[in-house]
Amino acid sequence: MPELPEVETVARGVNERIRGERIEAVWLGGKPEPFKTEPAAMAAALTGARIAGVRRVGKHIVFDLEREPGAEASPAPQWVVHLGMTGRLLVVDRDVPRPKHTHAVLSLSSGRELRFVDARRFGRLALHPATAAEGDTDTTEPEESRSAQAGVPGGFRGPGREPLTISVEDFAALFRGRKLAIKAALLNQSLLQGVGNIYADESLFRAGIRPATPAGRIARTRLARLHAALQAVLRAAIELGGSSVSDYVDAAGVRGFFQLEHKVYGREGKPCTVCGAPIRRTILGGRSTHACPHCQR
Ligand SMILES: [Zn+2]
Repeated sequence: MPELPEVETVARGVNERIRGERIEAVWLGGKPEPFKTEPAAMAAALTGARIAGVRRVGKHIVFDLEREPGAEASPAPQWVVHLGMTGRLLVVDRDVPRPKHTHAVLSLSSGRELRFVDARRFGRLALHPATAAEGDTDTTEPEESRSAQAGVPGGFRGPGREPLTISVEDFAALFRGRKLAIKAALLNQSLLQGVGNIYADESLFRAGIRPATPAGRIARTRLARLHAALQAVLRAAIELGGSSVSDYVDAAGVRGFFQLEHKVYGREGKPCTVCGAPIRRTILGGRSTHACPHCQR
């Protein structure tokens, strides 16, 4: 399943390739699962719109759309793509044969196509209405976190905070008084959006924190270390991904994403890179969890 760095890489790659293009025509497949918005309404909203930009919000890829100058004045909605487990976005010439499991094709003004391909169909495509720019996504979100995100471009916003830009103060405040394990708290998308299993384990190792520790019991200085570790791990992975962007969305659909070398994730029984103790794998909150029993307390 793609995590935040992979989604960021795909969003950047797609943005570089198709920003500024007009959507000339839209084809949507017959399988119902990928469509959170009714397909006919989606096709109508996308057709004729110009792609102003593509960016990541949490684990979603958001297409900011504009109407052509002179067209109706109503603001364009946003197109929101979630890759799910196996979803891919491909930018290819229109004469490249469509692969199996293609669910959506946007024909672009350059003559290329943007294709959404997803074998397992956990990915989702949706329209986010333009009129609902303020505070519509999740009413359970605390007020202070809304105002703290005021600088974020309007429109679609996931339920949680953005791990790459959250301040250390706001990060520490997320866990105050919480009894759930810090690993589970990191994965809770209504707290932080986009952190998945790999980067939760890796950042907890780098911060020296045992994954099962109740989140509310971790001292502020240790949470500051975790904040720094999480952002460093995500940024390093994005940088690695950036070098393979062209492969990730190429015509052949080859996955070129190089993963950060993991220190604990997937290394059960192998020696800790710091102390040599065997990395231990446990199940925490239903998720496979990797940690060094010696370095993490
Ligand atoms: Zn160790």
